Amino acid sequence: MEKLRYESPIINKVNAGMPDKFGMNVNTKPISYIDGVSVKDLLKDYGSPLFVLSEKTITETYNNSKRAFTSRYPKIQFAWSYKTNYLNAVCSLFHQLGSWAEVVSGFEYEKAIKNGIEGKHIIFNGPDKSKEDLIKASKNGSLIHIDHFDELYMLIEIADSIDETPKVAIRVNMDTGIFPQWDRFGFNYENGEAWNAINRIMISKKLNLVGLHCHIGTYMMSPSPYSVATKKLIDLALEIDHKYKHKIKYLDLGGGFASKNTLKGAYLPGTDTCPTFDDYADAITNVIINSQISPENLPTLILETGRALIDDAGYILGTVLANKRLASGRRATIIDIGVNMLFTSFWYEHEIFPAQQCSTQTEDTTIYGPLCMNIDVIRQAIQFPILQKGDNVVIKRIGAYNMTQWMQFITLRPKIILIDTESKAHIIRKNETNSVFENLEITPKYLKK
Ligand SMILES: *Cc1c(COP(=O)(O)O)cnc(C)c1O
Repeated sequence: MEKLRYESPIINKVNAGMPDKFGMNVNTKPISYIDGVSVKDLLKDYGSPLFVLSEKTITETYNNSKRAFTSRYPKIQFAWSYKTNYLNAVCSLFHQLGSWAEVVSGFEYEKAIKNGIEGKHIIFNGPDKSKEDLIKASKNGSLIHIDHFDELYMLIEIADSIDETPKVAIRVNMDTGIFPQWDRFGFNYENGEAWNAINRIMISKKLNLVGLHCHIGTYMMSPSPYSVATKKLIDLALEIDHKYKHKIKYLDLGGGFASKNTLKGAYLPGTDTCPTFDDYADAITNVIINSQISPENLPTLILETGRALIDDAGYILGTVLANKRLASGRRATIIDIGVNMLFTSFWYEHEIFPAQQCSTQTEDTTIYGPLCMNIDVIRQAIQFPILQKGDNVVIKRIGAYNMTQWMQFITLRPKIILIDTESKAHIIRKNETNSVFENLEITPKYLKK
């Protein structure tokens, strides 16, 4: 006979009927289905834990952001930020929807080429582009966004030696009123470096300056810094036109739009406070439309938004491993999802739901991952239903950065599933096995048994 599970009862202060700062409701509603597919079936078929991406949500979110911008401005181009989620299936989906590729390394550049994107539709950002990367990108006609003077001079040399005129933009950083200011990437606007870089490019005659770029931050909780950034890029574009009679073809405002996640320490949930795509689009396009740029020369507006396009489409499903009482008497629930695969739990209060009907009784709980490591905390404090070993949980809004910033630490990484618009599940990344890592390691002969 199976040993029945027993938990000793505890006495809890009754606080039913007392609103907390989010109102009356404690969230105990389960998530049992994702796009019509049963969570329990997914876990049975593919194992626990399990990443799940919703094609429906990706498509809807993309179309929503596209509508927000194209309804306000005639020339819009999205470029998918590879580092946000570079699973080939995800990139291919964004490319199918019309996005170009935005990459920040030779590795990502290769991925974009393999995903069938044309060289001229790859935007190459980042401070670390090798000479080989730059030669390849120049020959392919990619849009090279120069980050620093060392790269600028290297590219001028390359252009000379391969007899090509690379298409370039510079990344500009500036004071947009936010703190901290991201001034480590690109050329600073206020100290004159951006203008200096532009003049050196124009005078060299070796590079074709086609655009101006900035990426002012990430999870930007207000749209107004984008207005400031747009204004400063336009000022540069007008100066270039004035001095060289040269017209900039595009302004790239980067990414950084907030997803609907809630930051740790935030008073209100992100769903209530984060700007919408319409807010960001308004902030950016109004400045261009109302600028001194003549209507026939309006630049294309490129957007590299990552997080806001994919966070909502991602879920991670898992299983309760155990419950225990901490020294303080506080309830602790241990699940099989650790910070090694949920990197964003370091700065988000991720929403966790049970996957099955459970009691409406909740308790203030700490949710730990399975790692033998003190920092492995998924939620420090959450009013959570009483779950038992073997019950399942669903964590929402984890599509951005987790599947790229994850680490192989203590456990192996699980499968990733894409649910298509017909509710059919596809494995888009297999789970890792020991052999994946064995294959990379070499034990010197003298250490072998
Ligand atoms: C990371 C990155 C993005 C995407 O940023 P999000 O905050 O995810 O929108 C866009 N452009 C550049 C240059 C980046 O480094």
